[in-house]
Amino acid sequence: MEFDTIAAISTPMGEGAIAIVRLSGEEAIEIADQIFSGAGKKKLAEVPSHTIHYGTIVDPKSGELVEEVMVSVMKAPKTFTREDVVEINCHGGIVSVNRVLELVLTVGARLAEPGEFTKRAFLNGRIDLSQAEAVMDLIRAKTDRAMNVALGQMEGRLSQLISKLRQEILEVVAHVEVNIDYPEYDDVEEMTHQLLLEKATYIRDKLQDVLQTSHQGKILREGLSTVIIGRPNVGKSSLLNSLVQENKAIVTDIPGTTRDVIEEYVNIRGVPLRLVDTAGIRETEDIVERMGVERSRQVLKKADLILLVVNSADDFTDEDRQLFKAVEGMDVIVIANKTDLPQKIDLDEVRSLAKDYPFVTTSLLEDEGIETLEQAIAEMFFQGHVEAGDMTYVSNSRHIALLKQALQAIEDVLMGIDTGTPIDIIQIDLTRTWDLLGEIIGDTVEESLLNQLFSQFCLGK
Ligand code: GDP
Ligand code: ZN
Repeated sequence: MEFDTIAAISTPMGEGAIAIVRLSGEEAIEIADQIFSGAGKKKLAEVPSHTIHYGTIVDPKSGELVEEVMVSVMKAPKTFTREDVVEINCHGGIVSVNRVLELVLTVGARLAEPGEFTKRAFLNGRIDLSQAEAVMDLIRAKTDRAMNVALGQMEGRLSQLISKLRQEILEVVAHVEVNIDYPEYDDVEEMTHQLLLEKATYIRDKLQDVLQTSHQGKILREGLSTVIIGRPNVGKSSLLNSLVQENKAIVTDIPGTTRDVIEEYVNIRGVPLRLVDTAGIRETEDIVERMGVERSRQVLKKADLILLVVNSADDFTDEDRQLFKAVEGMDVIVIANKTDLPQKIDLDEVRSLAKDYPFVTTSLLEDEGIETLEQAIAEMFFQGHVEAGDMTYVSNSRHIALLKQALQAIEDVLMGIDTGTPIDIIQIDLTRTWDLLGEIIGDTVEESLLNQLFSQFCLGK
């Protein structure tokens, strides 16, 4: 395929000392040569591929020196886009990198659309669609862990598995085709049903396995849903604030003033948490507050992790006991807060109720115990819920939707076998499974979907 030469700033705006202008396309090197003046006057067109060169960027019209640069030259096909790629490394900050980009555009490059570099990598066969989407996830990855999932996917784990399953299906389809074309053998039908049953069961099991990991993938992307509960005034909002180190939740002295559910996203030692501060799970007369309580109950049901806060400078009350009851069987960390004040709570009772949970004491006012709490959260996460490792994570919602449809299609195949449906009818569902899986890796995908996907990318990727 042939495309024009595109250019964009491929480093995050305003971040880091070095900014890169990236060019890709047939004329990438030629265009760079028009504005680059290398030490020793060597032309970039003459240098070996995958080498870096020191020099200056000079405005060809005015002769003005714009920027001191390092330029890397990478010739097709061993590049990200499989086209000639030039990267101009500027270190003068955002103003000069923009000037370099402008120059590149005036001498013949076109400004890249968002995601266009990745789109080319896909169109040139360098990566498949699920890998391209992984790049997009990578750009958006909120934590290190989410980053690893994206990377794993980029290496094509999901694509490999999907390709393998499609191959299996294809073999069965081929077999069935042969049998349909040669129907004169009596035992063919039965044999095919048997073979189909085996293969379809295998494929169904595999799809189920993959889908099981999708929940974990979602956790990594969206964060472990974490709910902070406790009686009014025990320090829930303070805890949220300490963890977030911002001041979005309102902290007050009036009991029950956290009227609504507040969400914050934090990264605690590599564990992504979506923190929710609740108005307290309790009965109340106040209408506005009850709204908060209702929502709190709903939120509690969906939580992955509960942070239960009690006030150690106060009596342990029935309300506290009810909270322990409400979270029974869930993943809970118990926090006794306000250790800086004279202690009143019956610690023995708290400890006995919390015997199955990690138990942490804090003074949020004096910033004590937060480290221990973070440690407890990390341990809980890494030991229990989500195991990182060799799993094929699926975290992309489009992939999940397609996998679910494919699973349904293969269930239909199994149903067809069970009810003795003629093979050529069953074959329709089998082919549908194959098509749906193909959409994940981009084999049967439509152009409009492609554009939609790639337009979501950041500029310069
Ligand atoms: P919430 O109603 O559970 O959200 O409680 P808040 O976070 O709004 O805190 C209620 C009050 O307790 C505020 O005045 C906080 O400053 C105070 N507070 C929170 N944590 C501590 C602590 O560890 N020690 C002391 N002395 N006061 C605290
Ligand atoms: Zn609060």
